[in-house]
Amino acid sequence: MKQGFFLTMFLMCILNDSNSYAQTSKRPNILVIFSDDHTNQSISAYGSKLMQTPNIDKIAKEGAIFKNTFVTNSICAPSRAVLLTGKYSHINGLIDNRPNRNFDGSQVQVQKLLGQANYQTAWIGKWHLQTLPVGFDYWKVLPDQGNYFQPDFVEMTKDTVRYSGYVTNLISDFSLGWLDKRDTTKPFFLVVGEKATHRNWMPAVEDLGAYDAQQFPMPDNFFDTYEGRTAALEQDMTVNKTMTIGDDLKMNINYDKPGMFGRLTPAEKLAYKNYYGKIALEYEKVKSDSIALIKWKYQRYLKDYLTTARSLDRNIGRILAYLEKSGLAENTVVMYASDQGFYMGEHGWFDKRFMYEESLKTPVVLKYPKHIKPGTVVNDIVVNIDFAPTFLDIAGVKAPAEMQGKSFLPLVTKSGKVENWRTAMFYHYYEYPKPHRVPPHFGIRTMRYKLIRFYGPRNEWELYDLKTDPTEIHNLILDQKQANTILDLKKQLRSLIIEYKDTEALQILNSN
Ligand code: CA
Repeated sequence: MKQGFFLTMFLMCILNDSNSYAQTSKRPNILVIFSDDHTNQSISAYGSKLMQTPNIDKIAKEGAIFKNTFVTNSICAPSRAVLLTGKYSHINGLIDNRPNRNFDGSQVQVQKLLGQANYQTAWIGKWHLQTLPVGFDYWKVLPDQGNYFQPDFVEMTKDTVRYSGYVTNLISDFSLGWLDKRDTTKPFFLVVGEKATHRNWMPAVEDLGAYDAQQFPMPDNFFDTYEGRTAALEQDMTVNKTMTIGDDLKMNINYDKPGMFGRLTPAEKLAYKNYYGKIALEYEKVKSDSIALIKWKYQRYLKDYLTTARSLDRNIGRILAYLEKSGLAENTVVMYASDQGFYMGEHGWFDKRFMYEESLKTPVVLKYPKHIKPGTVVNDIVVNIDFAPTFLDIAGVKAPAEMQGKSFLPLVTKSGKVENWRTAMFYHYYEYPKPHRVPPHFGIRTMRYKLIRFYGPRNEWELYDLKTDPTEIHNLILDQKQANTILDLKKQLRSLIIEYKDTEALQILNSN
């Protein structure tokens, strides 16, 4: 009798244990590949004709593509702070990229909450916050912007170690190495922080010249005259004037000088000298003809940017192949996103910052086998404050009320429309005047309209009708026919500012 009792208890314990283990192991892994400045216009899943990105496209085909994902503040470090906290810059404290703008790692962050829910957490690659990661089980990050070749990584011991190789390959190597060694009894949350496609777009040696046979069409508004848009007129981010012939376009480089080119190995230097040496002959031919030079700069910018993206997409393929080979693909959510979009010559620009479409948007593709129907297209407005709540939702963890975004998972896992999903988003950019002289501004983006308020050195409003003017060259703020629309948008803007507790924006709004 007694023996029978103990046997029953013993069996129950085993069953209970295996049951709870099964529940834990069933919770999906979350793998986020988070790149830098990689924009929709250069991704074939978003209709780009500039290049093919088969691996990003594969995530979209097997899962969902989000066509209207926007960032709250289109710049590198603040976007990472938003990803970690689910909060706007004015709440998480990291409003710009300035050197002493330290991110407060003691605040609530998604990896800490996932860790508490027994997830194993890691961030590997570009981090870009001035303070080191807090709350991850493992991290290995590039200091600041990092380097493309022979990059340094800061280790958890706080040592800075230089590695041989190309940054995008190394970040994959370290990520796959961590996956190999992880605690397999726990689900994981891994962020692969990519450096590509950040300026100064140094391609991997094996990809040099990959797009040389192509001539890229210039955007219709490349030669924008910025009429009716003072902020756009005064910026310092044009392909023509701001982009440098040296570091950016790689002409007349002194490869022996320490720095990004000095890091190339002798073999890499030789490959770079051979390749860019030939390009320099083209440059000599066009450099005294201003129009020919602008066109040449545009072509060279795109070629280097896209070549850097080529290695990025190939490495995403490596990560996807690893998941498939190791049997992890089935139970792993994979999200690919960038920290923001970028200009590929639209308005004559590179860089980001402005609330105009190319830099306000960011790519997001996500697959979640068995939960998201392959080929799902989402047009609803998603904002990067939603990322952290979505990861928590996937893990079955309730997002804390202080997070300002909401999980977008219901948009892709349930059929039909989600009730009360947002129909407008709020944006606020701060960094001025350096490095690109884009005045601070905030605004609202609805499915059709965009209203922007510049402040600081500027005190101006802009209105765009994206339906009739998708490239945003006609500022309608003085158009009498738009009076009601403007009134309505200002009302909506005010309520978003109040909802997100942006006291600075509210003060400016109240001042006129
Ligand atoms: Ca960026």
